[in-house]
Amino acid sequence: MSLKDKTALVTGSTSGIGLAIAKAFAAEGARIMINGFGDAEAIEEERAALADAYGTDALHDGADMSRPDEIEAMVERCTSQLGAPDILVNNAGIQHVAPVTDFPTEKWDAILAINLSAVFHTTRLCLPAMQSAGWGRVINTASAHSLVASPNKSAYVAAKHGVAGFTKTVALEVAEAGVTVNCISPGYVWTPLVERQIPDTMKARNMTREQVMNDVLLKAQPTKRFVTVEEVAATALFLAREEAASITGANLSMDGGWTAQ
Ligand code: NAD
Repeated sequence: MSLKDKTALVTGSTSGIGLAIAKAFAAEGARIMINGFGDAEAIEEERAALADAYGTDALHDGADMSRPDEIEAMVERCTSQLGAPDILVNNAGIQHVAPVTDFPTEKWDAILAINLSAVFHTTRLCLPAMQSAGWGRVINTASAHSLVASPNKSAYVAAKHGVAGFTKTVALEVAEAGVTVNCISPGYVWTPLVERQIPDTMKARNMTREQVMNDVLLKAQPTKRFVTVEEVAATALFLAREEAASITGANLSMDGGWTAQ
């Protein structure tokens, strides 16, 4: 229970990677604020399960991460009801795939707002309390696309490269304050989002499930297996531990060798 006296705010944690990170932190005793969209009943079940399974406090806040006013209200609510976040995980993210000439401008704006600007807003709002406490952890879910590009993902790649640069800059600004700032860069992670794409791709390309996995999704990933949400959560948990105090400004790849090529 190494995080027993800590509060963790995890954005985009009603599903996938964020939910796995929230579970990993709750299991270590952290008070948890989850955030994200979805079916209200399902979210309440997840929230209650976090609190019950690990005997900790867990709240959900539905702030839209594209809205600075809602982000501010979420951080205030977390601070007043659970304590100022000692650990901030910026994980909310969306994707849209289209050539740049056809890229809908509203999708560009939404991806930049949710995947990049939200990281600025939560960080600027949470850092002062971490600096006063002399301890803090900011952990950003970036992507292999913070290091390399793929066609038709201009907004996502631009935003994730931005997250990597923002991470390094803020890490330098708070390096002497006991606060570390890092990002984790997964390759393809097995989440419901990815799973849902498989049947459509099988149909569209007349491929088997294995062909879609290996020749489309995992083409760039030498291990030819998906990263699991539990693997990403374990890395986030390690970054929150005392032993990781000297890891800051880092971009930790978890991509099965993708960016080693
Ligand atoms: P997911 O779709 O399962 O989860 C995304 C979460 O973000 C959900 O909880 C969703 O409700 C929330 N969200 C979306 N828009 C939001 C908004 N406007 N305000 C608040 N919450 C919002 O996806 P995931 O695969 O778990 O992705 C999580 C993060 O990991 C993202 O930043 C993504 O870019 C990154 N990532 C994913 C993969 C992958 O292969 N799945 C790989 C690299 C990086």
